[in-house]
Amino acid sequence: MTNDAITAKSQQAQQALPLVILGTGLAGYTLAREFRKLDSATPLVIVTRDAGESYSKPMLSNALAGNKSPATLAIASAQQMAAQLNARVMTHADASAIDTAAGTVLVDGQPLRYGQLVLALGAQARAPGLQGDGADAVQTVNDLADYTRFHASLQGKRRVAILGAGLIGCEFANDLHAGGFDVELVDPAAWPLGRLLPGEAGELMAGALRGLGVRLHLGEMPVAVHRRDGALAVQLASGVEIAADVVLSATGLLPRVALAQDGGIATARGIVVDRLLRTSAPSVYALGDCAEVDGLVLPYVMPLMQAARALARTLAGTPTPLSYAAMPVVVKTPVLPAVVSPALAGAGNWEIESQAAAGEAGAGLRALFRDTQGALTGFALLGKAVAEKGALARQISDWLPVQAAPA
Ligand SMILES: Cc1cc2nc3c(=O)[nH]c(=O)nc-3n(C[C@H](O)[C@H](O)[C@H](O)COP(=O)(O)OP(=O)(O)OC[C@H]3O[C@@H](n4cnc5c(N)ncnc54)[C@H](O)[C@@H]3O)c2cc1C
Repeated sequence: MTNDAITAKSQQAQQALPLVILGTGLAGYTLAREFRKLDSATPLVIVTRDAGESYSKPMLSNALAGNKSPATLAIASAQQMAAQLNARVMTHADASAIDTAAGTVLVDGQPLRYGQLVLALGAQARAPGLQGDGADAVQTVNDLADYTRFHASLQGKRRVAILGAGLIGCEFANDLHAGGFDVELVDPAAWPLGRLLPGEAGELMAGALRGLGVRLHLGEMPVAVHRRDGALAVQLASGVEIAADVVLSATGLLPRVALAQDGGIATARGIVVDRLLRTSAPSVYALGDCAEVDGLVLPYVMPLMQAARALARTLAGTPTPLSYAAMPVVVKTPVLPAVVSPALAGAGNWEIESQAAAGEAGAGLRALFRDTQGALTGFALLGKAVAEKGALARQISDWLPVQAAPA
């Protein structure tokens, strides 16, 4: 073979190395789909330690009200996804180490070579850190398999205690109530959705949940879970005990950074990436709940969709920096619909415009967050006020302004 032929051959081999995506959540599968629209030839390998079904995670916290069984939440099996995407989908496969120098990732103990590697590893539920002989019975719901277990554990039961009144805790409280359960909701903060809403808005949400019959334990820290007569009891720091058949913890999510960190890839709160979704290692990218994009960790669907579209183009050969407009988050609490655009920039003040008192028909509230210069940087809308979402979102400056593509 001539030198030219050898070079051509090695280039070919280089090109034949697969794009490897770790994760079959919304980030991994959306990226794969967007990539296939642009490149139908490059081999694609997708690795997940779960069953690899395509499903919409947000539906886990409103499935009961919609009478959806866990099985019907899966839109497509791993096999169907593999066929659709012309990909190899490795299920129940654990990625345990990345060797960026060798360009390999260890999957079930076997090195898998990648041309480009994408980390779409998601986030893990924060452990509630509880004492007591019932602590091991506390559940978290962060994927379809968790939900399937949780759903099975509810059969024939009536009382559910939820630890954490954030977005996921409040959504589950509303949904479990709609499913016919008695719900107790515990949070150390003074009002639900404490990280997203100002006090007045939080009070309105608390009132709406109480109106349903959900019992709120605010300003209360859960410290232990005990087994009592075949059921559970959640002990609060105040000494109060809540009897429950099932205990769900929803106390926050932590980006999965360990795999990257152990591989020498830079991490902070999430896996650190730039606007091209590039990590600190060559040919390794990250998106979705595991990623920290230009300093932002946004564990929501809309940002990951934008990221998937931009990254697909970059991986297919057209470097495309990610940009974000402000993306308000819809809180799925039908008892009192809420839309929140978190203020990312930090310092500032809430301005409350009450529209109706708690409990009144058509209760609603508009709260605007202004930075120290007076610019609108966030908002919270409850009830009827959610209709203003689009108009207000347009007044907030872009979270990641458009950047020129690199030359
Ligand atoms: C109950 C609930 C309700 C929500 N509701 C909303 C909502 O209404 N709106 C909204 O915008 N967002 C909502 N979210 C957040 C949203 O669902 C997430 O932002 C999104 O699903 C994250 O997708 P992802 O692909 O980044 O991560 P994940 O879906 O967590 O996927 C991670 C993938 O990585 C795999 N994986 C991890 N580690 C390994 C490993 N070592 N080896 C192999 N595979 C691995 C996992 O198996 C999985 O396939 C909700 C979240 C929850 C939990």
